[in-house]
Amino acid sequence: MSKNLKGKQPETVLTHSGRDPLAHFGAVNTPVFRASTILAPSYADRKREKGEREPRYGRRGTPTTFTLEDVLADIEGGDQCVLCPSGLSAVTTAILPFVSQGDHILMADCVYGPARNFTTKFLPRYGVETTFFDPAVGGGIASLIQDNTKVVYLEAPGSQTFEMQDMPAIAAAAHARGCIVITDNTWATGLFFKPFAHGCDVSVHAATKYIVGHSDAMLGAITCTEATYGPIREMWSLLGVAAAPDDVYLATRGVRTMQVRLEQHQKNATEVAKWLQGRAEVARVLYPALESDPGHALWKRDFTGASGLFGVVLQPANEAQLEAFFDALELFGMGSSWGGYESLAIPADPGGNRTATKWAPEGPLIRLHIGLENPADLMADLDAGFAAMKTVG
Ligand SMILES: *Cc1c(COP(=O)(O)O)cnc(C)c1O
Repeated sequence: MSKNLKGKQPETVLTHSGRDPLAHFGAVNTPVFRASTILAPSYADRKREKGEREPRYGRRGTPTTFTLEDVLADIEGGDQCVLCPSGLSAVTTAILPFVSQGDHILMADCVYGPARNFTTKFLPRYGVETTFFDPAVGGGIASLIQDNTKVVYLEAPGSQTFEMQDMPAIAAAAHARGCIVITDNTWATGLFFKPFAHGCDVSVHAATKYIVGHSDAMLGAITCTEATYGPIREMWSLLGVAAAPDDVYLATRGVRTMQVRLEQHQKNATEVAKWLQGRAEVARVLYPALESDPGHALWKRDFTGASGLFGVVLQPANEAQLEAFFDALELFGMGSSWGGYESLAIPADPGGNRTATKWAPEGPLIRLHIGLENPADLMADLDAGFAAMKTVG
């Protein structure tokens, strides 16, 4: 922590963490250091053992990267943070240090598809197996832990089906058997969920989403406890997955306003979600902040807010009707990477990506990201989509 921010409120931490303007001629923001070569001032300095925060090679980081690492560690309540070039590289770099040949991973059935692919398509080549479990397992995970289980991997809520997980119960069972608990905290961010206060050992982020916040850069972050930082930093160094300075700068600029953005995403999303619940075209809205959501009690107990991404299970509809719906939307863009200021709508099909439990919704699932537009305009856009659906058989 750069200044004494201990005990300060999250928005204060977001505003002040990681900055040292007087080290850069008073410039408020840490400048972008575009550097591969870092020159040593003397032979003796070149030979000197350098600390982690002393730049000596571009890949190892500069004040540009250290600034964002500090902000992210501070808001999440972690010890230190490591930045990677994408969310997915943060996921893989966070898992690798904790597994060796013959080990086993337990992974929630609702996690981000490419994270799942890494454990099913890459790790088995090196003798690491993964079992998927029902996200609702809670403390029952104890019976799934094997002698060779090293990692329990969570994502709450899952970013397709929005299923919650009982993190403290899962973490207690995992720790009793010496397993590391990793969670993907992209949806809630460090502002709405504190993973380390709920038993997690490692928190991974697609900083691409709310941290960058403007849909213009890709970045990953791994926040660690004191105990997990060493192995993760070492793996990060072995793999060479350093983040690029311009992307880091954009994320640092984005994160300074994350509190106000997320509050507004939450407000808008809640309004649109409630409106959708009342629509005849909708079977269910998957958003833990709604009282009707099966994960609401866990969300209310452990989280302090909900972001702008949720699922909508429609009443049965055919392909032509879905096509009419999506093509009628003007404000909602059809794109995958959420967390920017703008609204998105895509068809989702998590069914093929599950093995522990069956995903059998009443009708097609769509995923909405509610941006910072006026919610009345967004509801009118969705209304036009529903109207278009009715024009086809
Ligand atoms: C997008 C996403 C990722 C991957 O992030 P990229 O930056 O796209 O690689 C990981 N986890 C979750 C939950 C995501 O939504």
